[in-house]
Amino acid sequence: MEIIQIPVLRDNYIYLLHDSTSGVTAVVDPAEAAPVLEVLKRRGWSLTHILNTHHHADHVGGNRALKQATGCRIYGLSAATEWIPGLDENVGEGDPVQLGNVLGKVFEVPGHTRHHIAFWFPEEQALFCGDTLFGMGCGRLLGGCAEQLWVSLDRLRQLPGDTRVFCTHEYTQNNGRFALTVDPDNIELKDRVRRVDAERANGRATVPLLLRDEWATNPFLRPESQGIRIRLGMLAETNQAVFTELRRRKDVF
Ligand code: ZN
Ligand code: FE
Repeated sequence: MEIIQIPVLRDNYIYLLHDSTSGVTAVVDPAEAAPVLEVLKRRGWSLTHILNTHHHADHVGGNRALKQATGCRIYGLSAATEWIPGLDENVGEGDPVQLGNVLGKVFEVPGHTRHHIAFWFPEEQALFCGDTLFGMGCGRLLGGCAEQLWVSLDRLRQLPGDTRVFCTHEYTQNNGRFALTVDPDNIELKDRVRRVDAERANGRATVPLLLRDEWATNPFLRPESQGIRIRLGMLAETNQAVFTELRRRKDVF
């Protein structure tokens, strides 16, 4: 499966997925239609699927125009309060998503919003997680709660270390600044922040992430860390409590 990353808006990424043997082409979280149509035209691909991780405008903004232009089907998890425009297939935990010869699976990962899903393609070692997990950070709580988001991230972090994480925003550099305040003695974190600064200075994307890099440097996946716990004065607390405190601190960072 070929995966193309399209940077749009201020810091969003749209992903195009293409299976050449079947011709199936999917787009994940199309914030806008025009840049997607442009790539489709240039490549000679026709869009068959839209996969939405959640209902926010910077993830579904292109849904209607793309559906109108291509007749594609829209997959997502929708509810009255968190509605996905043009939805055809309401998918949830464990549901398969077949893209030609490539089989994906839906995880429900609430927290950023209450109805948030991720698409996992094991054969491709690719995870499309929307606004749950970011480089050295995680999504804000805009509908869901910290308890939900921790359960979701705890689950995602158990995927294989080689997993490529295709998140939807280029937030890595700013997240790194916060991570250093709660985990300042983490050598791998310091190295990564330096690397990311250089990449951004050259205008390069830091996404996709590699899950094992997040294990080592993302404080929101490391509530067990002694260093972080000492810093927070929370040595004996649960992972959930440490995570919640990290999320609170990031909100006011
Ligand atoms: Zn969002
Ligand atoms: Fe977003």
